Amino acid sequence: MLIKPRSESDLLKIMRILNARMNLNEDEKKQYLYLKKGYEGEVAFDLLTASNLNSEIYILNDIMLERNNSKFQIDTVMIVQNTIFPCEVKNYEGDYYYQNDEFNLCKIKKPISNPLHQLKRSETMLREYLQDDGFHFHIEPYLIFINPGFFLYQAPQNNSIIFPSQLSCFMKKLNSKPSKLNGMHRKLADKLTDGHTIDSPYPKLPPYNYHSLQKGLTCGTCNSPFMYCCERKATCNHCGYEEEVESAVVRSVGEFKLLFPDLKSPLILFMIGAGWSSLER
Ligand SMILES: [Zn+2]
Repeated sequence: MLIKPRSESDLLKIMRILNARMNLNEDEKKQYLYLKKGYEGEVAFDLLTASNLNSEIYILNDIMLERNNSKFQIDTVMIVQNTIFPCEVKNYEGDYYYQNDEFNLCKIKKPISNPLHQLKRSETMLREYLQDDGFHFHIEPYLIFINPGFFLYQAPQNNSIIFPSQLSCFMKKLNSKPSKLNGMHRKLADKLTDGHTIDSPYPKLPPYNYHSLQKGLTCGTCNSPFMYCCERKATCNHCGYEEEVESAVVRSVGEFKLLFPDLKSPLILFMIGAGWSSLER
């Protein structure tokens, strides 16, 4: 039972728009691709849980909680009988090796930030967060590697880690847990959903302003900002995708509203139009 669905963060949405409408530098582009890949991995895990889990389980996706001014984020929380399963989903791809308690990328032979530490922190903070309100569930955290192209040399024998080839067993294990959810579980799920906070994306963005952005309507398929309008159709110069002008305008207004949250719609329409009329045939 899906209690809280996942949606793209505003940070990812804005980075995608900026990637289409301006030249991001190498680090900014990396940040965008990292966010995008992470999100794709989480969605892949959602699909897996949605199509495989059939016992009574509450699923809450993408929860950000705060305790004592510290925030912690959990990709997926599953509630089964008397256990909570917080899952950290990683969409790593390629070859890694494990050495001295660190995950290292083979290509650069350097440690990356350790996802097991991240998992441990979330577990500890979640436990304290729930104990504050008298919830005493058993917490069993998991680090999920979702990408079949991920390989870890010298992998530690750690039951908290689920490798791609173990995903199907993991789903079976969850299904095999006898579970009957009641009002207490619902209260717990509501507590986590109500406590969810959203981080403002704006401090994390590269600098941009109206003049630095490519104007015009962006394509609904490839995000290219080069659509030309003919009668009521907007056609992408890049991929040929065609749609009603109205829907392309609505999407582009949404983009500019995200980029400039303080601006009013008429001004935004004018701004988009400034680039759009030059492409009109
Ligand atoms: Zn396109």
